[in-house]
Amino acid sequence: MSRKVYVLLGVPGAGKGTQAKRLAGEFNLAHVSTGEILRSEVREGTELGKKVKEIMEAGELVPDDLVIEIIRCCLQNFPDKDGFVLDGFPRNVRQARYLETVSDAMGVIAINIDVEEEEVIRRLSGRRFCPSCGKIYHIHFSPSREAGRCDDCGARLVQRKDDREEVVSERLRVYREKTFPVLHFYSSKGNYFEVDGNRSVDEVFEGLSEIVARFEDDCL
Ligand code: AMP
Repeated sequence: MSRKVYVLLGVPGAGKGTQAKRLAGEFNLAHVSTGEILRSEVREGTELGKKVKEIMEAGELVPDDLVIEIIRCCLQNFPDKDGFVLDGFPRNVRQARYLETVSDAMGVIAINIDVEEEEVIRRLSGRRFCPSCGKIYHIHFSPSREAGRCDDCGARLVQRKDDREEVVSERLRVYREKTFPVLHFYSSKGNYFEVDGNRSVDEVFEGLSEIVARFEDDCL
């Protein structure tokens, strides 16, 4: 059975992380988030973490060779999984070309979660997370029971440094310049799908699941 690589595309705040986690659970896929892996390197103060900390806090992309190495390792792991869902990679056309070279035997399916920029700014500015267990909240859409405290472990919730307003606008600029061309890269190859991301988490998940199910059924 060939293992597929599902690439979730979309502006920062489109819901890639949330949806990737759910898809991974539903279809037995390995969820690979380059952003999450890099944030954990920063938290742990590793050599890689030290190199990327400031770049990430400024909302810029970290150098390609660093993220490519992360992806290279991940795609060789997870033998018990039926495929991969990538969240945050590729972020530019060079990374997309690299992915083609390593996933030839697997096949890449790109799905763009299409969300209006205004909606994204509302989502990102209210997003909070628990630095202890990683649970994600939103001050309006999914608040914790006690304001500012994690429901599960009681730790004080914080805002990601790159979710601050000035950094969000830089991330959107970087998206338009570097990541937007990736949509065209995939649509010109014919393995590209879009779902309307301006809907509830469940509705978006349903749209994504329909696409993934088509390919996973083919694999059986
Ligand atoms: P994310 O959680 O996907 O929004 O990623 C957070 C930050 O990690 C980004 O703003 C970048 O600084 C860095 N990052 C994550 N994935 C990549 C990638 N594929 N290429 C370059 N930088 C990345």
